[in-house]
Amino acid sequence: MPEKTPLEAWIARKVTGSSSEMLTTKKLRDYQLNKLGETLDYVRAKSSFYQRHLPRHGAKADCSLVQLEDIGALPFTTAADLRRFGQEMICVKGSDIHRIVTLQTSGTTGLPKRVFFTEEDQELTLDFFHQGMLTMVKPGDRVLILLPGKVPGSVGELLQRGLARAGAEGFVHGPVVTPQAALEQMNRDKVNVLVGIPTQVLTLARVQKKAQVTLPPLHSVLLTTDHVPRSIVRELVKVWGCQVFNHYGMTEMGLGGGVDCRGLSGYHLREADLYFEIIDPLTGRPVQAGEFGEIVFTTLTRTGMPLIRYRTGDYSRFIVDACPCGTVLRNLERVGSRDCLNLGAGKLLSMADLDEVIFPWDGVLDFSARMAEEYGKMVLTLEILMDGPNRERVEQTIRQEVETHPALRNLMEEGQLQVNLNFNADTAAYSGGNGTGKRMICDQRG
Ligand SMILES: [Zn+2]
Repeated sequence: MPEKTPLEAWIARKVTGSSSEMLTTKKLRDYQLNKLGETLDYVRAKSSFYQRHLPRHGAKADCSLVQLEDIGALPFTTAADLRRFGQEMICVKGSDIHRIVTLQTSGTTGLPKRVFFTEEDQELTLDFFHQGMLTMVKPGDRVLILLPGKVPGSVGELLQRGLARAGAEGFVHGPVVTPQAALEQMNRDKVNVLVGIPTQVLTLARVQKKAQVTLPPLHSVLLTTDHVPRSIVRELVKVWGCQVFNHYGMTEMGLGGGVDCRGLSGYHLREADLYFEIIDPLTGRPVQAGEFGEIVFTTLTRTGMPLIRYRTGDYSRFIVDACPCGTVLRNLERVGSRDCLNLGAGKLLSMADLDEVIFPWDGVLDFSARMAEEYGKMVLTLEILMDGPNRERVEQTIRQEVETHPALRNLMEEGQLQVNLNFNADTAAYSGGNGTGKRMICDQRG
């Protein structure tokens, strides 16, 4: 049986106020109900947005919750609300805001999302990073952080501080721009744990494999910021013989949301700080236990900019069976790629589909995908960066895999879709892919 997630003991301390008391589902739910009530009172007193947005006391669905399920009567908060009314969601004085994260998104309004954190909010994130990393890190470990970390309060800097609390040393490298430089640092600083973005970490593994350089052994890799293709996990395990963990989070959650336990079968969540729901994205109603839907969360302990029923746009489900680690915490299935391209005739294509077709093949470092329309025909262009042996054979295999893919094959045969594969072996062209953003198929159709 895998070791129980360290998040349980941490959450038990927060919920019960004692380090010896056991956590039960009932204690956790009572605590969450209480914190939800406090949060609702707080935002109604402090935020002009929520004063407008939430029903008044005494209204049919007011803010008094008798049970957790009553939260379903409250309206959602969306990314569009955050863009338009972000300033009005702030519940503290400007001087109490310690960090502002600006997220440039491809949203139609052109307004960026801004998320505001107080020092206490940042401490909550730091605390989660400390406790979450205990899953894979022990004192004395050396961790290379392939995430932005130059600015105080940035994800990499908070992670470095969280690791120090766990007795481990974090080295902030930043996102991978030059694989060679990251590999050199892995060697120089004798790191045995990596934290990074899935495709960037894959690139390191494949460049190292090709160059046949020996590095100090890695025991764990934590992948974060984007969905994790199974083919990438398989390759990392093969090249490094390490365990590969996933983290799920977004800036709005306070950077961190949840992390795998050693059972590696889904994320356990920061349930003392965040209350999660899964809803039907069309009706907005909660789904049945174990069904897929959109992830919605409410902050329970945030002071700067609390979020009530925030729609993430991510899809997943709660796994109904108990986690093999034996925790009472919930277990959220790995979050998949959120973007899906409509190909017509009921066919959909996502970056995750393409990932599983393209990444398994040796030498593939990264790729991008673009869909356009020319003379009424869809044109999918895949730019694939390669650096490995037997290039011709690998290229031919990828071509075959794409041409026989169930979502693409018929459309190609019927002349509705053309696929262009461009292989590039100039690894100087590597630029870290999409940086820290989520990888998506770029849809240029009108
Ligand atoms: Zn578990």
